[in-house]
Amino acid sequence: MTGALCRSDLARGRAKMLSHFEVMEDECIGCALCKERAPENFEIVEGRAVARVTSQPSGREEEEACLEAAEFCPIGALSVTAPQESDEYSLEAAVAATASP
Ligand code: SF4
Repeated sequence: MTGALCRSDLARGRAKMLSHFEVMEDECIGCALCKERAPENFEIVEGRAVARVTSQPSGREEEEACLEAAEFCPIGALSVTAPQESDEYSLEAAVAATASP
């Protein structure tokens, strides 16, 4: 791959290096502990006792907060998918592809 690395390539690569979070709605009791620990990433759906992911973590700090939220969820209703480091869109791969010879 050649050519300049654009912002979307970097963002996509960075996102692939971070854990991915989902709320298992059938199990969630809407206690809001996840929102307290990671307010940038979770919210309680208005009118329902269930959390939802508002955005996946955009950096290590948010990822740490989300991991802590998953760890402290009282019923384990947050699923975590590990980063896909070998993915073709990884940040390292994207940067390496644009490096000068
Ligand atoms: S901490 Fe767990 S049970 Fe509580 S609102 Fe968040 S996902 Fe639902």
